[in-house]
Amino acid sequence: MSFLSTLFSSKESAEKTSRPILSEILKTMRESVIVIGRDTRILAFNPAAYTAFGRRNGALEGKRLSEVIRDLTLHEAFRTALEETINSDIELEIPGVEKRKYDVHIAPIEFEKTIGAIGIFYDVTQTELLERVRQEFLSNVSHELRTPLTSILAFVETLEDGAINDGENNRHFLAVIRKNAQRMHHLIDDILELSSIESGGITLAPKSIKLPTLIEEVFTNLSGKAAARRIKLKNEVNADERVFADAVRLEQMLTNLIDNAVKFSREKGEVIVNLERKNETDVISVSDNGEGISGEHLHRIFERFYRTDRARSREIGGTGLGLAIVKHLARQHGGEVSVSSVLGKGSIFSIELPAQSE
Ligand code: ADP
Repeated sequence: MSFLSTLFSSKESAEKTSRPILSEILKTMRESVIVIGRDTRILAFNPAAYTAFGRRNGALEGKRLSEVIRDLTLHEAFRTALEETINSDIELEIPGVEKRKYDVHIAPIEFEKTIGAIGIFYDVTQTELLERVRQEFLSNVSHELRTPLTSILAFVETLEDGAINDGENNRHFLAVIRKNAQRMHHLIDDILELSSIESGGITLAPKSIKLPTLIEEVFTNLSGKAAARRIKLKNEVNADERVFADAVRLEQMLTNLIDNAVKFSREKGEVIVNLERKNETDVISVSDNGEGISGEHLHRIFERFYRTDRARSREIGGTGLGLAIVKHLARQHGGEVSVSSVLGKGSIFSIELPAQSE
């Protein structure tokens, strides 16, 4: 049986011409289409239906709908189309290795003096996933902003209630307000940055960069933080090594990784930056002998807002977006970022960049 052969068996010549065209259109559609007859057997379908119902070629013809999919709402919708000639729109979930979600439009159709029913399945799996990601992001952002804001409001009220005249504490309260306002500022900066990187709003200008010089610049910027915790910053990249990248963005990636290495190191720890050449790839690694990350968290730490200890990350000035920014920047360079870590021993973050072809 050819696709839709039963459906388009009109005698009129105009219809004869349009028949193969319609058949071709249905073949190219991403939506799955099936038509059933009065006895609920499948009369016609397009190739997309094989994928939707997880069937191999030839495994749909003549089958009853109930043999192909078990879903009461779907069966009821087809029944009302056949028996009451009523249209329906339903949501359907097809289980499997990859669960898929569909919006399905079911309607009665008339052909060869009989009534059948057509079902058009729109795959909304990806749209729903994106919607969930968007909602999660929004709820995370609101939560992250509300925490410092609550603190600011509380301290302002305390000052208004008289603490402004308390010469011993008023400066301290102002400092707390400033710290929380800075945290909000930092968070908004990171959100805007990430959103601009993700939407392709930044253009890279890659060129050959002297890597040790760039590392020293990052070290200088973070030296105060490292010194405060007596952490040694070591640059083990040879003086004349070069990599091919956007200088500003590479500095941003290294700053995020080295800043984390310092933050999550123990006092008197060591942070080492190294370079390894592997075939077509240059691998820049930032290693620390700090607290490390356990396996359960390791595969999620590049997600936006994922932190092993949310409260602590906030306390030490983190937004939970640093690694997500590094991931997107590395990918924009055609590279990748990865991590290996042992809890209690330390972590190694590696940025892989495509090597410059001669
Ligand atoms: P944050 O602003 O919290 O540092 P990141 O996206 O940079 O956000 O990092 C996400 C989380 O990954 C951190 O909160 C921390 O739990 C973990 N992490 C990142 N780098 C390290 C590291 N070098 N050692 C241990 N944990 C780390």
